[in-house]
Amino acid sequence: MGSGSGGNALVVECGRTRLMMDCGFGVADTEARLEKAGLSPSDLAGIVVTHEHGDHLGGVAAFSLHHSIRVYLTRGTAQWLAPTHPAQLVCPIDPHSAFEVQDIRVEPFPVPHDAREPVQFVFGDGDVRLGVVTDLGCSTHHVEEKLSGCHALVVECNHDLDLLWGGNYPIGLKQRIAGRFGHLDNRTAAAMVKNLERAHLRHLIAAHLSEQNNRPALAVSALAAALGCEESWIGVASQSEGFGWREV
Ligand SMILES: [Zn+2]
Ligand SMILES: [Zn+2]
Repeated sequence: MGSGSGGNALVVECGRTRLMMDCGFGVADTEARLEKAGLSPSDLAGIVVTHEHGDHLGGVAAFSLHHSIRVYLTRGTAQWLAPTHPAQLVCPIDPHSAFEVQDIRVEPFPVPHDAREPVQFVFGDGDVRLGVVTDLGCSTHHVEEKLSGCHALVVECNHDLDLLWGGNYPIGLKQRIAGRFGHLDNRTAAAMVKNLERAHLRHLIAAHLSEQNNRPALAVSALAAALGCEESWIGVASQSEGFGWREV
């Protein structure tokens, strides 16, 4: 429903179950984005959260409270929820243990990122798997193991290294973004996807693109070059619209 440093939210639907992953938008904005996707807040069985950065957690508490929706998050991330958040709406998760919310199996996995206990997720129904990985400074063997064999992937392509270093961000911020606990650049993302077992891969979406330090065409060409596929096959999630429904 939207992806980038201005806010992130994604909906996964399987059978009668829908989960929202992250919510970096205000209540009214999230409701409007859900409506665009043909959904209302009462359609959601829960919100799974990756980490505490505002573009992911910023809208979670208000939305959870407003619509009485459960939030699934690591204990490290849960520290950023107000202690007054109703306990029955908070479901702590283990970063290495899969769990089920109705029809959806959710596999969290830890990622290198400058947050307290950040995870990303693979969603599945026992048949097909969707891997979503934004906000990681580098790939790891474990990340690649989790993403291998997925039928659909949403992968961070945060920046182009030349645009980042040539741009006007303060040097400390550039170092943070490019660091091993920052964000994936286009080429590193492409190399990571190339390393995966991809025999079943049907959808690939570039996400969390920086508006300052990246261009959709650069992310797409890096991924297409690494995979040897048509550029038109690769989707790009935008800040304002996300990428619309895909059937896996
Ligand atoms: Zn982010
Ligand atoms: Zn982050």
